[in-house]
Amino acid sequence: MIYAEVIGDPVAHSKSPLIHDFWLQKLGLEGDYRATQVPPDQLSAYFEARRGDPDWRGCNVTMPHKRSVIPFLHDGDSKDPNHPHNRIGSVNVVAPLLDGALGGVSSDVAGFLEALGGASAGLRGKHVVLIGAGGSARAVAFAMFMIDPGILSVYSRSTEKAERMLQQVHLDGMKVSVRGLHDPLPPASLLINATPLGMVGQPPLPIDLSPLADDAIIFDLVYDPVETSLLQQAKARGLRTINGLEMLIAQAAHAFVHFFGRPAPREHDAELRVLLAS
Ligand code: NAP
Repeated sequence: MIYAEVIGDPVAHSKSPLIHDFWLQKLGLEGDYRATQVPPDQLSAYFEARRGDPDWRGCNVTMPHKRSVIPFLHDGDSKDPNHPHNRIGSVNVVAPLLDGALGGVSSDVAGFLEALGGASAGLRGKHVVLIGAGGSARAVAFAMFMIDPGILSVYSRSTEKAERMLQQVHLDGMKVSVRGLHDPLPPASLLINATPLGMVGQPPLPIDLSPLADDAIIFDLVYDPVETSLLQQAKARGLRTINGLEMLIAQAAHAFVHFFGRPAPREHDAELRVLLAS
C-alpha cells in the first residue's frame, strides 16, 4: 500500500497523521500516513531505505530535521544564497521525483499565504509586524517578500538574530526594521505571532495592541490552543483574527497533493478543525 509519513525526533506530538488520515478516509483512498521517529544520525539511512521503496510517497519533516534534510534534495547542495531552500532555511515536505531523486519545499510559505487569503491584496504599502525570528518567521518573511508590504518590522528578543534572519531571507528592496520584543507597536495593518508564546505550557505574548490600525489583522501561528490570549485580546479590540489551525490545515493540504496526487478534500475543513481542536 502506498504511504507517506512525518519524520522527526520526537514525532509523537505531530498532528500530521490525524490530518492526512482524515483526508485519505474521506477520499476512500488506499493509502497510509504514519509518524516515524528518525534520530539525526539516522537521517541518511532513512532516505537511502525510502528511496528504494516503491510504495513511499514522501514525508513531512519536523524538528530537528527541517534544515538538515536540504543536502539530501536534488538541488539541496546549491550554494546560491537566492535559492528558496537557503532563503527560507527549512524544508518540511520531501517527495521522490520521477527520476528517483528527492525534491523538497516549505509548505509553510504556501500555507501561510493561503490562510491569509484575500487579505494579502490589501497589504501592499502597509506596515506589517512579525514577532519572532525562528524557522516559521523566516517562512513568513519570505511570504511577505511576495506580498510586498510598505515595511516589515520584526520584533524579537534577540535583535541580532532578527537582523541575521532578514539578511538570509534576502528581502531585496523591501523596507525592514528590527525592534526588541517589548518595544511599542506601530499602527500596523497585520501582526503575526511566530513565537511559541501563548501556546499551551508557555506564557502569553506580552503585547499592547492599541497602537494597531483599526482594521488590522492578527495572525497567530500557535494552534494549541486555537484561541490564544493574543487572539482574545485582538477580538476584544474588534480586530480580525486568523488562528494557527488555518495555516496548519493549509500547509498540510499542499503536502497531501505532493504525496497522494489528489487535492485534499477541503470541503470537510469544519469537521477537521473540530477534530484538531479536541
Ligand atoms: P522556532 O524556530 O523555535 O522559533 C521560535 C521564535 O520564538 C524564536 O525567534 C525564539 O527566539 C522566539 N521565542 C521562543 N520562546 C520565546 C520566549 N519565551 N520569549 C520571546 N521569544 C521567544 O519555532 P518555530 O518553528 O518558528 O515555531 C514558532 C511557533 O509557530 C510554534 O508555536 C509553532 O507551533 C508554530 N507554528 C505553527 C505553524 C502552523 O502551521 N500553524 C507552522 C509552523 C510553526 P530565540 O531565537 O531567541 O529563541
